[in-house]
Amino acid sequence: MSPNPRSTPPLTHALPSYLQADNLGPWGIFLQQVDRVTPYLGPLARWVETLKRPKRALIVDVPIHLDDGTVAHFEGYRVHHNTSRGPGKGGVRFHQDVTLSEVMALSAWMSVKNAAVNVPYGGAKGGIRVDPLKLSRGELERMTRRYTSEIGILIGPSKDIPAPDVNTNEQVMAWMMDTYSMNQGTTATGVVTGKPIDLGGSLGRREATGRGVYTVGVEAAHHIGLKIEGARLAVQGFGNVGGIAAKLFAEAGARVVAVQDHGGSLYREAGLDVPALLAHVQESGSVAGFPGGEKIEDNAFWGVDCDILIPAALEQQITEANAGRITARLIIEGANGPTTPAADDILQDRNVLVVPDVIANAGGVTVSYFEWVQDFSSFFWTEDEINARLVKVMKEAFATVWQVAHENKVTLRTATFIVGCQRILRAREMRGLYP
Ligand code: NAD
Repeated sequence: MSPNPRSTPPLTHALPSYLQADNLGPWGIFLQQVDRVTPYLGPLARWVETLKRPKRALIVDVPIHLDDGTVAHFEGYRVHHNTSRGPGKGGVRFHQDVTLSEVMALSAWMSVKNAAVNVPYGGAKGGIRVDPLKLSRGELERMTRRYTSEIGILIGPSKDIPAPDVNTNEQVMAWMMDTYSMNQGTTATGVVTGKPIDLGGSLGRREATGRGVYTVGVEAAHHIGLKIEGARLAVQGFGNVGGIAAKLFAEAGARVVAVQDHGGSLYREAGLDVPALLAHVQESGSVAGFPGGEKIEDNAFWGVDCDILIPAALEQQITEANAGRITARLIIEGANGPTTPAADDILQDRNVLVVPDVIANAGGVTVSYFEWVQDFSSFFWTEDEINARLVKVMKEAFATVWQVAHENKVTLRTATFIVGCQRILRAREMRGLYP
């Protein structure tokens, strides 16, 4: 067959509507972010289309027996966005609003993040569209096991390694590890990270994302002359990421003046007692009803007088509607995708420094990488070793991103995308296309 003459239309068709950038779900936001980085990719830009299409996406039916004897069906997903640099890596989310578009975007942000901190992984993500708070422990276990079995064709210690995300934790990872191991007939601890310590988990993993948020936050604050001691902090999401980040900032002398979670919003001018609030959340599941703070309207949370804001809940929380009201000078994105591109522009015009998700919350996957390495070598490190290595990775990655932002006069988000996407596309180019 003769090659196509240049004048013929390209054989590649336009993307279907749900994959397009003006479809402003999380995936559309990711595509807009890719468009913003493309002018900075040089000759590698010829491969940029690779980033705009997930490598593979699996939708699975997850049927389980409920405790009352009836059968319920849930929809589950696992997406590999890109595996040019290594096996897929990314969390599993249980939430009633999970969609394929969301999981695609989360997997894509994992590709960029893993490359930005230079861990040898591609990007993946999974989820089930379910409100897990409405399930009993037995139902949760059956759903987790059936989901793990259904996505078994994609996961494996050298193929794709899930981890915790919203509403999943060490116990869920233990069930996933056990289910995969039963199906394989061998105990495969390296199939997931974020496991309990007794099952090959790593010291420091539970705190790692929050610690990473804190580490890059301190670096960024230093660059803009903002002192942590006495700084006023507002935190949205008081789970694994937000709770630990708040604790570390409070220990460094910051005042956590406002918090918000799915149950409501709290304010205390003198600063909330973070350890007491963490204990309250552990017991009751939410910040709501904590006696040491004043309840405020959820919408008022965004206008609270503060120096640092940490979104650590879900996507698309900082939008055109509230970006103009934010008083913080520094935003550190603990959550994935919390800021829309339009809000990014407003914040940039207002000189608010945004440390983007793809670097700010990379501490979790960094220690997940350490966990995976420890599982493979069956040799476990001390917590001090892990924290020291984590801080080193985060500081070096942030310094690189800061320099790239400065050289190209772009935001930290675009700079992180430059660093991450160049690494992914260089790998893509060197591997070449099969066949
Ligand atoms: P988590 O389940 O431990 O906590 C989630 C928090 O968000 C809870 O406090 C919950 O109440 C709150 N929340 C949920 N819906 C909300 C709403 N509508 N309004 C306000 N708050 C709401 O989850 P997590 O692991 O802390 O994850 C939080 C974010 O951090 C997610 O975007 C996740 O993708 C990201 N992240 C997590 C990790 C990790 O290691 N766990 C790593 C990187 C990024």
